[in-house]
Amino acid sequence: MTRALPPNLSEATFDRALDELAGAVGRPNVVAGGGDLAAYADPFLPSPENPRAFVASAAVLPASVDEIRAILRIANAYRLPLWTVSTGRNFAYGGAAPRLAGSVVLDLKRMTRILEVNETLAYALVEPGVTYFDLHAYLRERGLRLWVDPPAAGWGSIVGNTLERGFGYTPYGDHAATQCGMEVVLANGDVLRTGMGGLAAGTSWQLYRPGFGPSYDAMFMQSNFGIVTKLGIWLMPQPSAYLLGEIQCREESDLEAIVETLRPLRLDETIRHHAVVEGGIRRAAGVSSRAQWYDGPGAMPESAVDAMLAKLGVGRWNLHYALYGAPELLDARHAIVERAFARIRGARLTAAKYAGDAEPVGGADRNFAGIPSMGAFRMLDWRGGDGAHVDFSPICPFTGRDAMRQYTLAKTRMAEYGFDYYGGFTAGERHLHHIAAVIFNRGDARQTGAAGDLLRVLMSDAHAAGYGEYRTHLAYMDFAAAQYGFNEGALLRLSETIKDAVDPEGILSPGKQGIWPRAWRGWRGYT
Ligand code: ADP
Repeated sequence: MTRALPPNLSEATFDRALDELAGAVGRPNVVAGGGDLAAYADPFLPSPENPRAFVASAAVLPASVDEIRAILRIANAYRLPLWTVSTGRNFAYGGAAPRLAGSVVLDLKRMTRILEVNETLAYALVEPGVTYFDLHAYLRERGLRLWVDPPAAGWGSIVGNTLERGFGYTPYGDHAATQCGMEVVLANGDVLRTGMGGLAAGTSWQLYRPGFGPSYDAMFMQSNFGIVTKLGIWLMPQPSAYLLGEIQCREESDLEAIVETLRPLRLDETIRHHAVVEGGIRRAAGVSSRAQWYDGPGAMPESAVDAMLAKLGVGRWNLHYALYGAPELLDARHAIVERAFARIRGARLTAAKYAGDAEPVGGADRNFAGIPSMGAFRMLDWRGGDGAHVDFSPICPFTGRDAMRQYTLAKTRMAEYGFDYYGGFTAGERHLHHIAAVIFNRGDARQTGAAGDLLRVLMSDAHAAGYGEYRTHLAYMDFAAAQYGFNEGALLRLSETIKDAVDPEGILSPGKQGIWPRAWRGWRGYT
């Protein structure tokens, strides 16, 4: 295959730009061509006719804000599109790959400093290359009684996950909500600090997000308006004790009652965290593989699912919840939760208590106790082969009726395209994050193509029913952005007005979230 180039640049001009980049960060920190560039490719290529979609032309790895500013000078001069990632592990949504083919990935994984942890006020300030594993290890090594809230895969970047509005499972699970303070480099090289960080010698940057005047932190989430180089997050004080509970229900239709029972407990803060209602297949995948139960074509038949669940002793729906706090509080809350769910016929309730510093063994359980894990990756073994996944992630109103409706919609379409319903619902306060993973064998072009078609159909169905995605793969960013079309796309018009003002040459992550700078607007909808 010929070499990928940024659009509109000749090979010779691009080589000059690469030389200048090497001058800015050192030759070993520019990845151009060769096998190393494979790390910036995404396994999901929904249109096999276009294998070059989302291919990077190079990657550049700065180690400091000054190096980032030097890169920006070069990118502006050459109109070189840069695609910013922190550690680039945004799997199921594009990994480290750029939306605009030929972009240079600006990879911040070398910026790995944990700049501050304050135990008294319970926060941390980190650079983009710091992973959840890193911060957790740092806290433990120093004996600090603080928890970090990990997302399902602990190896990702705190900055990357937070900017994508990722979520985890403790009471600090809403990562965008527990973020406080950012340092951002704009496309013109200007460096700003948000909120109280605007004080040149301040004391409260990680304590009070708004600051004085307009508040901009949210503007740099799921956008392409700047490069975030420092980010503050709040950490959870380690509770004196916690309890992990599971409630297994037998019938598909029990989803409705589970959600209806959970909502009031969530709203009155009896349950204070992102409890998870996990579908039977996802639960089973934690302890077995699909081929043990079924190896025919298409989605697993109901009879095979039933047999599997019975044999493994897991439910069609499995609610995982946790309670945190002093033992007296745990007991009181536990009694309330059990009383509420015992009303669901056939519900099986189990729970275990832990001291605040105890560590549960299972990956998902560890996430509830602020310990990063990689348990979620078991899913890739579910179907065997060279497993990969792409996710359908609509926001669901927190009602039993909506949850059933989304579940039925997803399951039916997934079966039509030959995929199992591998999903669950994570409880916000008034909404649920419904995540249904489409697991495919990346070596199988037909299956990959079917996954691609399925995602588009699922998104259309959801939109027709009044639902929208909270996050999508690169391939669907334009499609999703267009769905948020109130008043002929007023939201996207505002985003693109801002984009053109803060990034006139259009160099930062063109196409991210459907936001195209003037220079590249003709690329909307193309891959
Ligand atoms: P993770 O490795 O935690 O999954 P990524 O590094 O892949 O996260 O980041 C996810 C997405 O967030 C990227 O595709 C990019 O759009 C955005 N992003 C990540 N880091 C930054 C950053 N430092 N500044 C601006 N946007 C970023």
